[in-house]
Amino acid sequence: MSDFKRTRKTKIVATLGPASSTQEMVKTLFEAGVDVFRFNFSHGTHEDHQKRLSLVRGIEKDSGRPIGVFADLQGPKLRLGTFEKGAIDIEKGMRITLDSDPRPGNEKRVHLPHPEIIEALQVGSDILLDDGKVNLRVVRKNADSVETEVISGKKLMDRKGVNLPNVLLKVSVLTKKDRIDLAAALDMGFDWIALSFVQRPEDVIEARELIGNRAKIIVKLEKPSAIESLHEIVALTDAVMLARGDLGVEIPAEHVPAVQKRVVRACRLAGKPVIIATQMLESMISAPRPTRAEASDVATAIYDGTDAVMLSAETASGDYPVEAVSIMDRIATDVEKDQLYRKIMDAEHPDPENNAPDAITAAASNVAATISAAAIVNYTTSGSTTLRTVRERPSVPILSMTESLAVARRLQLSYGVYPVHTADVDNFGDMVRKACTVAREHDIARQGQKLVITAGVPFGTTGSTNILRIAVVE
Ligand code: PGA
Ligand code: MN
Repeated sequence: MSDFKRTRKTKIVATLGPASSTQEMVKTLFEAGVDVFRFNFSHGTHEDHQKRLSLVRGIEKDSGRPIGVFADLQGPKLRLGTFEKGAIDIEKGMRITLDSDPRPGNEKRVHLPHPEIIEALQVGSDILLDDGKVNLRVVRKNADSVETEVISGKKLMDRKGVNLPNVLLKVSVLTKKDRIDLAAALDMGFDWIALSFVQRPEDVIEARELIGNRAKIIVKLEKPSAIESLHEIVALTDAVMLARGDLGVEIPAEHVPAVQKRVVRACRLAGKPVIIATQMLESMISAPRPTRAEASDVATAIYDGTDAVMLSAETASGDYPVEAVSIMDRIATDVEKDQLYRKIMDAEHPDPENNAPDAITAAASNVAATISAAAIVNYTTSGSTTLRTVRERPSVPILSMTESLAVARRLQLSYGVYPVHTADVDNFGDMVRKACTVAREHDIARQGQKLVITAGVPFGTTGSTNILRIAVVE
């Protein structure tokens, strides 16, 4: 049994990498507050990932707490070719041709190794490179090259990332590398697969056909076209990551905050977990304390009602991985105590749908708050009952018991959920007794405290929630 209890409702996702590859470090990160670990398949070998995954699974076993893990596929990330001298200096007004010739480039031309991009570009199209530091604009289009003018930027280096805002590319969401990585990740048993650069709803369908029910899908929103089909994509995926790094290059930075609010609302309404990601505590890659603006950014995501906040390089390759998790944990804990936060969560409450499960679930959240219950308790087979409860953003923890370890792990990504992997129950009486025992064992409730339990009777049919019961822990 775990000897510590998480009371924070917002979840923390941390990326593992070279700075977090020892058993000691992964354990310290987990104890500092990580609920879900991200494995970035853009870097490292399958052996690296397998080794880190074994560490996480070992810690899960020792702690008795389910831990979620996801494999983040690189996706069709576009990159420039190379230069004879590794880089070139550029200045506004200069002309440079992007072509299909793989030889190293110079001041006049450079390789763009994706013929479908050259095909998709039009005169006037903007090409952003190196995280938006360089802006080229197409002034002439030829059969297999484009001539561009430098709009801004000082230097172009080998293999820098290329973003094409507002160009819908005829590329699959899964590259050849992704398909190899996906097969490996599924064999390793990841709970989730994150898809990068999703452009259209069909991309999710295509990936789902390959993944089947071996893992759930996280769509990374980082293309303007995906934001345009937000509701369709949210309906098709199992979870969402707002990938603000690439998104903030593809759309103007000033649009990102409003998009963040829109995305969090859409996901809460749909009952799908959402992660706010990238540059949350960026300066902590090399400093032990965040900037005030970063602390405020993490807090804002939480006030927006996100399920999870994420760390990337801060924990994968930074100098202060544990400090980054700790400060995130403290910010979340503080925001969740704020009266205003509670008011916002309640005000943003989605209207219950006209059905019994939704009515019972909304009522459970109200009852729990009114009687100061220690927790809301669900028993879930697929996780769907608990995800419905999560939409409420209840003020008390959601104790979610499930006989599926995979479901317990996945629920770690969801707001306020304390998943417990436990054997099945036969009837409602059993379930009430078990709820009390588990709540006490896990220090969720003490003797004399109340639990609000929801269930579907008869047992075993999903979406049948029709009972609300208040139990007193004996
Ligand atoms: P990445 O995704 O780190 O894989 O690029 C996150 C982002 O773009 O924000
Ligand atoms: Mn990205």
